[in-house]
Order: sequence, then structure tokens, then C-alpha cells
Amino acid sequence: PTPGGASGKRVLLAKPRGYCAGVDRAVDTVERALETYGPPVYVRKEIVHNQHVVQTLEKRGVIFVEETDEVPEGALVVFSAHGVSPAVHEEANRRNLRTIDATCPLVTKVHKEVNRFAKQDYDILLIGHEGHEEVEGTSGEAPDRVQLVDKASDVDKVEVRDPSKVVWLSQTTLSVDETMERVDQLQERFPDLQAPPSDDICYATSNRQVAVKAMAAECDLVLVVGSQNSSNSKRLVEVALQAGATSAHLIDYADHIDESWLDGVTTVGVTSGASVPDVLVLQVLDYLQERGWGEAEEITTANEKISFALPRELRKDLSDNP
Ligand code: SF4
Repeated sequence: PTPGGASGKRVLLAKPRGYCAGVDRAVDTVERALETYGPPVYVRKEIVHNQHVVQTLEKRGVIFVEETDEVPEGALVVFSAHGVSPAVHEEANRRNLRTIDATCPLVTKVHKEVNRFAKQDYDILLIGHEGHEEVEGTSGEAPDRVQLVDKASDVDKVEVRDPSKVVWLSQTTLSVDETMERVDQLQERFPDLQAPPSDDICYATSNRQVAVKAMAAECDLVLVVGSQNSSNSKRLVEVALQAGATSAHLIDYADHIDESWLDGVTTVGVTSGASVPDVLVLQVLDYLQERGWGEAEEITTANEKISFALPRELRKDLSDNP
């Protein structure tokens, strides 16, 4: 089939989509740890928020735990891409665990900002989703100084000690537009509110939102491949709908597509969150082709070249045992 063939059915494929540099590094870290030290490798929390990735690693000998107290004394534990608070590092030290920290460097950057502003005695308003692991880790850098702002109604609840020393920071995987709305609301209450020194929403999150926006208005249906607990993937569904897609759904796998979603649909847009391997997207494209849609037309809004070195703790052992 050719794009926009006789049936008029089209598939648009957003680019960039899928793996970001932080996820690539975190998954690579666990795979290299398995090869270098052998199973079991413990990982605190899901290494990245993707069912397929987690299940694949489990089969290879990774044991996912919620907290470090589930890891046997002296064993190896990897911290996930979302980052951990200093308290988690301390607890792991106390229990003599060997740790490899796969926190994305762009999350670490926000941790450092929290530290710096806390030292300067600022009140820090952290825009993010309550209960998300990243937010727990980031706030844990200075629990007395950080207040979480999630919903619009949280803005009124914020209390600061000195309105001239207030800064907002954010989770890395939020909707860019919604975050700016929240910032405007905060700014109304605190006219001297300072902004982060550089964007906290990471390049991968914003690039994927720009890409889905570029195709959404043409789409009767947007399929976002990603897991329910993946913040950036969920944002892609919301952004697609706000940008004019008639409908949009988050799916882990092609076989989660409900056939009825395709009723009356001509143009389908496909994208995926930053924790999603592209093989899952290819399965969605196959599914659509089997049902009469043509080859996907890629809609490119950016070319990403960024990559991160593996964690230092691991690199050291890799160079000892090349
Ligand atoms: Fe890092 Fe952004 Fe990827 Fe999160 S989404 S792992 S912050 S690059």
C-alpha cells in the first residue's frame, strides 16, 4: 500500500518519538550490569515506566523492588531513571548495598537546582504530579523548602516565608503548555517568582509534544504507545487531544487497540513515550497495515542527537573487564 492510497487511509508517524537519551542510558545500564555482574541485579522501582521493558528485564534476571530494604545486604541495586532522594542513598549505604545510579542527568540537574535554591533559603514551588517517583526524589533534596504544586487549586494553598525569595522548578515530563499556565497562576500570587535557570521540562518531553501537535489536527485517531504510569506518555494523549485530534488513546501493545476505535477513521497518528522501544510502535504499524492502512508517513519536527555516558560506577568496572 502507498501513503494515502485509494482508500485515503493514512498513517502519520511522529518523530521524535520513543526512547530518549535518559531511558536509553538507564536500560543500557541494567543490561550491562547483568552482563558484567550476572543475575540477580536488583532495581529499585521500575527502571523506566514501561511494562514491556520491565517484563523483558525480569526474564533476564532483574528483580524489581519498591524499596532498598527488600535488597539483601551487600547486593547490587540500580536506582531508576527517575532519581532518588538523598535518604534513599543513605539507607542503601547503611545496608552496605552496592549501588549504580541510573538517574537521568536531566533529573539530576533539577536535584541540583533544588539544592542550590534551598541553600540560598528560597521557598521552592515544584510543579509536578503528586506521588510520581521523580517528584519524591526531587523534593527529598530539601523536604522543608519544597512545596508541590500539582493541580490549579494547589496554587492558593502555597505559603511562603518571603514572597521575594520564591522560585518555581518542575518535573521533567510535564505538559509544556499546562506548566506555563500553572506558572502564570503562581506569578499572579508571587510577582517576584523566579524561573529555573534553564528548562526543567526536558528536551525529549517537549520535542515529543511538538511532534504530536504537528500531526494531531489531521488525525481522527492518535495512538500513543506507552504505559499508564508513564507521565510523558500520558501527556502526549492530552496534547494530541488539545491540538485537535478527534480521539487519542494510550496503549502498551498493538493488541490493546480496540477495533471500534477505528470505525470511520481515515487518518491515524502514531507516536510513543520516551520509555517505549520502537519495536512496539512497529507492531502498531503492522496492525494498521493488516487493516488497510498504508505505509506510515513520518512527520519530523526535530532530529535528536543527544546521548549520555553510562554511570561512572559501572564504567569503572566495564573498563576493568572490557
Ligand atoms: Fe531524562 Fe527526559 Fe528521558 Fe526523563 S524523559 S529520562 S528527563 S531525557
